[in-house]
Amino acid sequence: MRTVEHLLAALAGSGVDDARIEIDGSEVPLLDGSAKDWVEAIAQVGVVAAGDSECQEAGEISSSWVLQEPVWVYQGDAFVAALPAPTIRFTYGIDFEQSAIGNQWYSWTPSQESFAEAIAPARTFGLVHQIEGLRNRGLIKGGSLENALVCDDSGWLNPPLRFSNEPVRHKLLDLVGDLSLLGTFPVAHFLAYKASHNLHIQLARALAQQIGASCVSCQGSVVSDS
Ligand SMILES: [Zn+2]
Repeated sequence: MRTVEHLLAALAGSGVDDARIEIDGSEVPLLDGSAKDWVEAIAQVGVVAAGDSECQEAGEISSSWVLQEPVWVYQGDAFVAALPAPTIRFTYGIDFEQSAIGNQWYSWTPSQESFAEAIAPARTFGLVHQIEGLRNRGLIKGGSLENALVCDDSGWLNPPLRFSNEPVRHKLLDLVGDLSLLGTFPVAHFLAYKASHNLHIQLARALAQQIGASCVSCQGSVVSDS
């Protein structure tokens, strides 16, 4: 199943850790390239606490699993780390040669800013040659200027942006979606720089190894990516 991360991020950002998802096809619809439509649809039907879910309040990211020491993975100058912190927080940095994107950093604290407003509307972004390459290989079948921000060396092909730093907010959205594979987020500061889905998943795996020892009452089902 491809492009699951935006739906997973929408569920996690809405505090949903228990849902049945039925999909006809091999790719989750890209919609507008963000998690906005998913989050609005989830808000419309509402969420309830499942009978055995004692560790998470319906409607927000929270956890009773507190990270005790740093965990990190890296590749070249890209890294993803989880650091002990008093509250759950996500920070992301990206650095692109294209001046339209450039160097951007953003921090999101779920208890202070809503996922629906700060993160969910941020759309996928790409460079013109990447988008063409993926489409030629038969991936991102639904990919077009309607569901991704696209730029070349001279600027954005399809402005306006929803946030001046929409690209880095989208990377943060992807990180939330990928880490949601853990089933529950540890209380930690997640810090990523120039990372990829691959590195996000590697951090999730490293954290999963600690999950049993740290949280007896809310052992999330740890799913591996395909
Ligand atoms: Zn994405």
